[in-house]
Amino acid sequence: MPKQTNLIVRSPAFLYREAKKVFELHCEQVPLAKLAARFGTPAYVYSTQAAQFRFKALDQAFDRVPHTLCYSVKANSNLSLLRLLHKMGSGFDVVSGGELERVAQVGRRALQNTVFSGVGKTADEMDTALRAGILMFNLESESEMRLLAERAHRVKKKAPVAFRVNPDVVAETHPYISTGLREHKFGVPMADALRLYSAAAEQCWLEVRGISVHIGSQITSVQPFGEAMARVAELARELLNRGHAIRYIDSGGGLGICYGNGQGVEQELSVTAAAYAQALIGPLRGLDVHLLLEPGRSIVGPAGVLLTRVLYLKKNGEKRFAVVDAAMNDLLRPSLYNAYHEIVPVERRDGTGTAKVDIVGPICETGDFFARDRKMPSLEEGDLLAILDAGAYGMSLASNYNSRPRPVELLVQGKKVKVVRKRESIKGLIAYEK
Ligand SMILES: *Cc1c(COP(=O)(O)O)cnc(C)c1O
Repeated sequence: MPKQTNLIVRSPAFLYREAKKVFELHCEQVPLAKLAARFGTPAYVYSTQAAQFRFKALDQAFDRVPHTLCYSVKANSNLSLLRLLHKMGSGFDVVSGGELERVAQVGRRALQNTVFSGVGKTADEMDTALRAGILMFNLESESEMRLLAERAHRVKKKAPVAFRVNPDVVAETHPYISTGLREHKFGVPMADALRLYSAAAEQCWLEVRGISVHIGSQITSVQPFGEAMARVAELARELLNRGHAIRYIDSGGGLGICYGNGQGVEQELSVTAAAYAQALIGPLRGLDVHLLLEPGRSIVGPAGVLLTRVLYLKKNGEKRFAVVDAAMNDLLRPSLYNAYHEIVPVERRDGTGTAKVDIVGPICETGDFFARDRKMPSLEEGDLLAILDAGAYGMSLASNYNSRPRPVELLVQGKKVKVVRKRESIKGLIAYEK
């Protein structure tokens, strides 16, 4: 067994281990190079241990109050990951009929701890969710409320509801993933909430159950969470005074992770989680409610890497490029949000020098990049790279642009590896077409 080194890469699940003067990046006990040789690249590799550790750390931070983590399926919707989290007691947050079906596949019981979010639920999706007996619909408009009441009547199942309120707080994150401002499409205005709850209470096929809020994603300060919760708690008190049975407060997701060049986020997670819990629980003091949380990224983000191989090195004038076999269709975050991902060589050879390089994919778009002017140890064609913290919004945002089959997904546990999604085939891609 190779010696473990203290060169932690982001999360203890991904470590360099030394064997004969070479430092090889592992996922748990498995060398990534071995996975690349066996399953090809690009490949998503997830660590069971990391996902479990992170779920537990978040869950324990909220121990002092009745709560349920409803993992946000859109962060990574792989069935094996959902099953893993379900086994640990996770509920789910879904935003489409497709995600709801995934939860149903994981287990009927999982549906009872599932909340349905999203601004544009269709009648069909509502019917399916009603029949499935989910925990709560998070409503985002008056029209949606009326449609749901109608569907509930038709299906003869009372619909448990909350309104997702828009708390109008500033969450410092990328504008595309900030959702809690008045100018955003999400939620109903605070000022309309009392009227909407009264209107919902008059509908005999709706059962008011809670209030929900979600202010955005990749939020790295706990302050906006606290501010939003203070507003929600105030509303909850007002609604309770008026006789509405507010039993659940759904605080949404959005806790950020560290994508930067830091070390050992895993050790810090308990600290972050404690501060996060404090910010959310504080304003709820004196309220007899069950807290729901919808974490996505904070659980699976650091638990996954995208493994890719350098195809070509080239120079255009002074600029150096490493063309790799993964592309924006596999991991869209750099192109979409200009997001930073740490990229490390799978095999570290010490003392080879460094150079600034753009790490780009083969797609015909200038936006197809993973890093620009990134200082990297000097690379060679054929080298393997690991794009870190790619477990969330990686595969779930992947597409088939340029007719590229999506990568294989591998789940590691100790020394064991499972293919949890096969690499797509070109034949499969075109099978839908005439
Ligand atoms: C995307 C989303 C989440 C998850 O956000 P993370 O940043 O991944 O924690 C939770 N709730 C809702 C309503 C969402 O849209």
